[in-house]
Amino acid sequence: METILNYIDGKWTNALSGDYFNVINPATGEVVAKAAKGGRDDAKMAIAAAKREFYNNPNGWRRFSAVKRSEILLKIADELEKQRDSFALIETIDNGKPLREALGDVDDAVSYIRYYAGAARMPSGVSYDVNDGFGQMQSFTIKEPVGVCALITPWNYPLLMGVQKIAPALAAGNTIVFKSSSETPMSTAKFFEILSKSEIPDGTVNLVMGSGSTVGNELSENEYVDMVSFTGSTEVGQSIYRASAGNIKKIGLELGGKSPNVIFADADLDGAVEWAMVGVFFNQGEVCSAGSRIIVEKSIKDKFVDKLKQRAENMTIGNGVENPDMGPLISENHLNKVLDFVEKAKNEGANIVCGGYRYTEGECAKGYFMKPTIIDNVTRDNTAVKNEIFGPVVTIQTFETEKEAVDMANDTEFGLAGAVFTSDGARAFRVVKEIRAGVMWINCYNPAFVEAPWGGYKKSGTGRELSFEGLEEYTETKQITMNLNPGKLGWYK
Ligand code: NAP
Ligand code: MG
Repeated sequence: METILNYIDGKWTNALSGDYFNVINPATGEVVAKAAKGGRDDAKMAIAAAKREFYNNPNGWRRFSAVKRSEILLKIADELEKQRDSFALIETIDNGKPLREALGDVDDAVSYIRYYAGAARMPSGVSYDVNDGFGQMQSFTIKEPVGVCALITPWNYPLLMGVQKIAPALAAGNTIVFKSSSETPMSTAKFFEILSKSEIPDGTVNLVMGSGSTVGNELSENEYVDMVSFTGSTEVGQSIYRASAGNIKKIGLELGGKSPNVIFADADLDGAVEWAMVGVFFNQGEVCSAGSRIIVEKSIKDKFVDKLKQRAENMTIGNGVENPDMGPLISENHLNKVLDFVEKAKNEGANIVCGGYRYTEGECAKGYFMKPTIIDNVTRDNTAVKNEIFGPVVTIQTFETEKEAVDMANDTEFGLAGAVFTSDGARAFRVVKEIRAGVMWINCYNPAFVEAPWGGYKKSGTGRELSFEGLEEYTETKQITMNLNPGKLGWYK
């Protein structure tokens, strides 16, 4: 069985405690690898290396020219692309997602690295004409790396979420300590093999696996960490926010969601059904932006739900390596949580249109599979409408007016994403502008692009990832003012 180690200061190392944790394939329940279980002291070692490299190495990564950083990142992308198939297979074995989707994740990861390799060389900073009582002066800004960045990721897109943080952090010249989710450490550890063989100096990129309450908490609290970028649940995001206050870390939080998918009667019905499927059943519904609240105009509700039900019931379920429509959920524990939500929703009066139970046909009995689930007859305060379920579960609500649709869409503590389906362009834009969320789709659901910023309003987070904005998150702005007549004194003469 494979043993995965931490990577600290240029060396592959066991945890100081000597402990390991099991890595499980959710399609079979089998242990497929063991991983070094780092703790606070391992995290401290990694932070010390990253700090030394950032602050004390005169030839450190941040002093590499942008061109050099860019070239190294491009080589890393090429190497990842070469190993596309083995990365995808590992991701499917560790996370459960269909191989086809895992391949898509690797392709996206390659593309993200190339984007940030290019972005590293883009112009940045602004110049300001500030001539005033002080005499002739010019102010301008330059962008500098933040310092030691702690990057903490969830299990739903292990490689992609990792690369989404690592690539811009490195492009900007930072040093990093990375912590993967204990559910899915394999693909990012393999990515660190590529990083370890690159020309990035030792101590610049560090990997510490281990639990959130120890490694994650140390990364958030430690005074030598300058920034934390976290993707995960709102609850953990809140605790990281608090833990980061000690030294006022820069912070990026990509958190949970409960996103509305609003469908008007004039929409292309079959198209809306297909996108709604992608919206909520892609990646087993384990997607932060999942369109888990369908809000459909009353006059087409029955037709819409019939079609959606037919599509959902026909989905194939199985081991991700066989490329079914849907793989297993991440763990037995998570599956039970999702099933509990469905049970509670039922007890509160909801009607289960289809699914709602564990799927145990044939080989699936060994894994953590679930039938895609549609729930209707829900009130606004039903458990299934209120909570992020993070599984293949969608609720159906109805509206009669545009205002009612918008009110319902906004009736949530989250604000990550949402969509509107209609053939009326002006209405689409009106509704999109009224919904308080960071990402909105019109007549589609879920596509994300490295060129466009991603992030949430409200309890879905703060800061943006992807795009040039995502790069700027990993920088500080330095304002510099130059006196153009050095001999001349200021206003007090
Ligand atoms: P999670 O339980 O919040 O865990 C995320 C990461 O944080 C894991 O690496 C976890 O470590 C670590 N962690 C746990 N407690 C911590 C603490 N006290 N301090 C520091 N780190 C800690 O989330 P998850 O279950 O992995 O992922 C699902 C959630 O992620 C959903 O809410 C989903 O919406 C959100 N998500 C959001 C986005 C977005 O872009 N907005 C994208 C993907 C996912 P261990 O698990 O190893 O202990
Ligand atoms: Mg796993």
